[in-house]
Amino acid sequence: MTVEKGKETSAKTVIRGLGLILSGDLRQPLLDGDTILVDDGRIRAIGKEKDIDGESATTVIDANGCALAPGLVDSHVHPVIGDWTPRQNQIGWIDSCLHGGVTTMISAGEVHTPGRPKDVVGLKALAVVAQRTFAALRPSGVKILAGAPVIEHGMAEEDFRQLAEAGVNMLGEIGLGGVKDASTASQMVGWARKYGIQSTIHTGGPSIPGSSLIDSDIVLAADTDVIGHVNGGHTALPDRQIIRLCEQSRRALEIVHNGNERAALLTLRTARELNQLDRIILGTDAPAGSGVQPLGILRMIAMLSAVGGIPAETAFCFATGNTAKMRKLAGGLIEVGRSADFVLLDRAQHSAGNSLLESVQLGDLPGVAMTIIDGVVRSERSRNTPPATHLPTVTRRGREAQARG
Ligand SMILES: [Zn+2]
Repeated sequence: MTVEKGKETSAKTVIRGLGLILSGDLRQPLLDGDTILVDDGRIRAIGKEKDIDGESATTVIDANGCALAPGLVDSHVHPVIGDWTPRQNQIGWIDSCLHGGVTTMISAGEVHTPGRPKDVVGLKALAVVAQRTFAALRPSGVKILAGAPVIEHGMAEEDFRQLAEAGVNMLGEIGLGGVKDASTASQMVGWARKYGIQSTIHTGGPSIPGSSLIDSDIVLAADTDVIGHVNGGHTALPDRQIIRLCEQSRRALEIVHNGNERAALLTLRTARELNQLDRIILGTDAPAGSGVQPLGILRMIAMLSAVGGIPAETAFCFATGNTAKMRKLAGGLIEVGRSADFVLLDRAQHSAGNSLLESVQLGDLPGVAMTIIDGVVRSERSRNTPPATHLPTVTRRGREAQARG
């Protein structure tokens, strides 16, 4: 059997000694238990160690009291190819984000591709290439969902059918291409939706020279599945327009790190008043003008929790379960049958908070102690976060240990 690069799954693994399990599910963000059993890359059991049969596990991870959360999902990135971005001319940016706890990234368009084609045949080809390359090669094991074409005038329904058939299942940000008017955008979003392709839109002022303003009239008319960076990327819409988007749409409200923090807090407050926190999803918009933010998702969680007054365990759901449900991901929730994509965290050394949750609510970043994707350990002590107070230990036994020599 050949395994495409970065796509290995684990043999039977038991993770024990967990101090806390964050589910990613808003309805019940904390789970009872200290142990998770993984086999063939999937979660098989969650509970107390005494109730879980981990005897035949070939890998035992002792969490030493660390918390476990679903691997973080960045709902808004702009990848190009492999682990290189020409936007800030940086190599290894995805690996750096893995060290910030991110195990899945979702492309909002491969718009930084040098010489990006804008004719219909070319933009479709680029989307297929991006989808294929990232499906075949996961940098450092991180799942990159890419192949997000930016719509242009001249596209017909047939183009969306062909894209879907070729494996493309999302659009890049509407507004980054030639289509900026409500009627064309809504027609093409309709075609995309008909063939199972999700959509997003660039909300707010222009991000860089050459992009343009997309206001609440266009966002509401286009009716994309995600209201991309509702807090601007970076320039936000006026408050009344952001409130209107929260009130008059039921689509996902994406808050990004590369946006306006005050507008992010306004969105959070409005969604909470509407009792619609399930709509909040988080992204970085990296690589962007403000660069790559390896800790961007953790920083958003800490900011929304500390300044927005949201329990830390709820803020984690914005970057995990909410996005997983919205994007129909296999991971993102701690549930039997889901992908075993995890981040192990602890309060950072010398945080004023006495626990992980308290430290985040005080605005500190947690220490990432380990990341796991499809049950495979992908990174140990983070090189980017402040040091976690405790670290897990890994013991391999039996067949796997022999194979590793
Ligand atoms: Zn944008």
